[in-house]
Amino acid sequence: MGSHDDMTGDAMDTAVHDAERVARRDDAVRAAVEQGLLAPGSPLVGLLDVTGIRESAAALRAAFDALVAPGTPVLHAFAVKATPLVPVLRLLREEGIGAEVASPGELALARAAGLRPEMTVLDSPAKTPAELREALALGIAVNADNPQELDRIDALMRSATSRSPLGIRVNPQVGGGSIEATSTATATSKFGVALRDEGAREWVVRAYQDRPWLTRLHAHTGSQGIPLSLMAQGVAAAYALAEEINRRIGRRQITTLDIGGGLPVNFASDATTPTYAQYARLLGEAVPGLFDGRYGLVTEFGRSLLAKHGTVVARVEYAKSAGGRPVAVTHAGVQVATRTVYAPGSWPLRIGAYDGKGRPKEGPAVVQDVAGPACFSGDLLAEGATLPLLEQGDHAAALDTGAYYFAHHYAYNSLARPGIYGFTPDGAGGIDFATVREAQSLDEIVAESGGAHAASLTTLTTSKRR
Ligand SMILES: *Cc1c(COP(=O)(O)O)cnc(C)c1O
Repeated sequence: MGSHDDMTGDAMDTAVHDAERVARRDDAVRAAVEQGLLAPGSPLVGLLDVTGIRESAAALRAAFDALVAPGTPVLHAFAVKATPLVPVLRLLREEGIGAEVASPGELALARAAGLRPEMTVLDSPAKTPAELREALALGIAVNADNPQELDRIDALMRSATSRSPLGIRVNPQVGGGSIEATSTATATSKFGVALRDEGAREWVVRAYQDRPWLTRLHAHTGSQGIPLSLMAQGVAAAYALAEEINRRIGRRQITTLDIGGGLPVNFASDATTPTYAQYARLLGEAVPGLFDGRYGLVTEFGRSLLAKHGTVVARVEYAKSAGGRPVAVTHAGVQVATRTVYAPGSWPLRIGAYDGKGRPKEGPAVVQDVAGPACFSGDLLAEGATLPLLEQGDHAAALDTGAYYFAHHYAYNSLARPGIYGFTPDGAGGIDFATVREAQSLDEIVAESGGAHAASLTTLTTSKRR
């Protein structure tokens, strides 16, 4: 990064926001200990930075507003899977952000948060007839994933009218990134119509020619690990296809391009990079015409809106040494950081060290393992991390975990879902917390594990024997 003198205005804003976010996070960890959210009896919490979420939402809006022709409709729909929490969706709604949903559960969350159908987009790869019928009845935008799904939509459109904006999802097959599991535009990706396969492009063009109600085109070509240039290539391919379809039909039937989400997040430091402004400018250069007002736009960012605003904080229950290496045994492991524990090479997390009072820990950096509470040896939040030595009663914070982490509980060892709290500075040097989700109780764990059916298997066996 250059000196402040050669930074652009939005880069300066980003750097200031990043520094303020780190200060807020430190204040929140200390306040969580002081206010008893984090305690020996509740040794794990998720914290969400409300100010930071609002800032990211504003940065996203500003990045596109700066480039689109005045009056162009733009819907930023948050990919609900990144942080499926109703209060988060409501907060984003207040910031003018809609919802991209991909299951009946996610749609239910969006509706519980009060999102109107016009602010909601459905694009899962396995929609049932009932889901499609409901979406069309509600007027929610739907992107058909494949020809069979389009058949189902055809049948529904014959039997009823719908306000739903409808489109087709294509896979431009521009290639994958460094993480196989999150690359959506490889030749064999499961999503959308594979555009470069034989006959596919012609099929798509004909699908639009035959259906005047198909007015959108959707491509989501990336996620963590995808270079920006490849994402831009995917958007360029979708744009070129829309132009070709409209040209061949002889009118502007496709009115809206859904360019997906996928902006990668920097997990290596507190710097927000790349920024929405950088991506939008790159799109403006790579796809001239995208922002000239002829197409409305939909975006579907998930990780980049929330990741940097979440922190998992866990008490260090024990500090030990094994084979000469210090190991901090904490309460955060595979249940809250599943991807990191199972695929640490692809999903490394930074760990912040805080002392027993929740203050940033000082002291020489020591190579150590930060372990979770689950009963398998691979349950490590970080292996060989270099940070001040974590001791019993300290706290370990898994940083940048606001998306795809603590909202994605994995019930290994029946470990309870932690409570999640949103925080803001109270204006008087303190921190206010609000409950986003209660910690899961033991009664709830038993109930979700068949507690109401305790005797179901033994009685089944008995009745069969008789
Ligand atoms: C997951 C997903 C997104 C969001 O991806 P991020 O990498 O979290 O921005 C957007 N659109 C679709 C269709 C998705 O499946």
